[in-house]
Amino acid sequence: MSERYLTPGPGPVQISRDALETRVRELGARITADYGSEPLHVVCVLNGAFPFMSDLVRAIALPLTVDFLSVSSYGSRTESSGEVKLVKDLDQSLKGKHVLLVEDIVDTGLTMQYLLGYLQGRGPRSVRVASLLSKPSRRLVEVPVHYLGFEIEDAYVYGYGLDIDHRYRNLPFVTSLRSGESEP
Ligand code: IMP
Repeated sequence: MSERYLTPGPGPVQISRDALETRVRELGARITADYGSEPLHVVCVLNGAFPFMSDLVRAIALPLTVDFLSVSSYGSRTESSGEVKLVKDLDQSLKGKHVLLVEDIVDTGLTMQYLLGYLQGRGPRSVRVASLLSKPSRRLVEVPVHYLGFEIEDAYVYGYGLDIDHRYRNLPFVTSLRSGESEP
């Protein structure tokens, strides 16, 4: 069981632990260069972005603070309901801060659109988005992604924070299901 659990799935998208590590380091270096010595407030979208956020902040060589929020956006297992609800709010104010919103994946873009509207309404100095993954072919609304890890094709991905029914978030790589299947 434990060995099988760490076996990559059968789908077309596979991103190894090494590839994740290299890309996160590159994004951290770019963010460090872009913000100069400006302090940064990094907001993690729970639950899916927690491993990415944790690795990314350690690759950013700037003074920064972190906060977390949580939204629920999925009606069924793999299809977005289009309805986004705030489940856990931020603890800290965004007033006057440079905010970097960290998300696991931008799929239809509906969650990101909601989040950007919500954050902008709280008086930040700026808001930028870092997303580990993006599926551009699924987009229903255009949203900015300033720092993108990987653009992927339309497959259901899991691992490195992304889940299937709350499981598999602890896989150290990103893998995927075959089209039409709901279990690896
Ligand atoms: P969107 O609102 O359609 O862009 O969906 C964004 C959210 O849906 C992400 O934050 C994920 O939680 C979830 N999601 C979208 N695609 C996948 C996937 O392939 N695997 C796991 N979660 C996904």
